[in-house]
Amino acid sequence: MGRITLDKVSKAFGDVEVIPPLDLTIEDGEFVVFVGPSGCGKSTLLRLIAGLEDVSGGEIRINGQDATQTPPAKRGLAMVFQSYALYPHMSVRKNIAFPMRMAGMPKDEQDRRIEAAAKALNLTDYLDRRPGQLSGGQRQRVAIGRAIVREPDAFLFDEPLSNLDAALRVGMRLEISELHKRLTTTMVYVTHDQVEAMTMADKIVVLQAGRIEQVGSPMELYRSPRNVFVAGFIGSPK
Ligand code: ADP
Ligand code: MG
Repeated sequence: MGRITLDKVSKAFGDVEVIPPLDLTIEDGEFVVFVGPSGCGKSTLLRLIAGLEDVSGGEIRINGQDATQTPPAKRGLAMVFQSYALYPHMSVRKNIAFPMRMAGMPKDEQDRRIEAAAKALNLTDYLDRRPGQLSGGQRQRVAIGRAIVREPDAFLFDEPLSNLDAALRVGMRLEISELHKRLTTTMVYVTHDQVEAMTMADKIVVLQAGRIEQVGSPMELYRSPRNVFVAGFIGSPK
């Protein structure tokens, strides 16, 4: 189960309110994309959900539980970053195993999950390599593998493809969409790329300056943008 609700959630850094109070519901199993220009608060919103930042006001609930009282590691969420955040001195296998080892999971269960993730992500032949011996796309797969083995209630992706070249990006986009179809786990996906948003999302959340301009399916936003900002943003992919 991965239902996430934000109730009047706000965030200020010092005197600067970057997210005014905001309400949002992410249903279990949904693929929700936060889209908007650089600096509009996408990462901050994701980090609030992940618990990497504290909310300044309001409440985040995950499956009905007040997440603001729950430490990040206990929220049942797995985050995938643009920078991969892999350990360069560890093999792919050890990188993927890391969160399970930290959680004290039995070794045979770790191995079972690693094999399954490697198979799903075409990494079986690379398990003994180090991140430095992999392509960008393969590294991003390892980062996704490390999230999958935790069997989270929801995946949180922060611009996971923005370090990849355009051709690779299209392939990875499809892979992540396939993964969502197969796992049916909630995915919250941050991007500034309209095409990614339009092709991957069940539901798009358009943000500007920390405010939600519109929430809807790609088709709803395309057909009935609420304002000029949404129309311009959705209508003019780079
Ligand atoms: P996005 O991910 O959409 O590019 P961010 O969430 O990173 O935007 O940033 C939103 C706003 O919050 C920006 O104005 C940014 O400068 C500011 N901000 C983000 N993190 C911090 C921080 N730790 N301290 C101060 N300001 C921050
Ligand atoms: Mg960001």
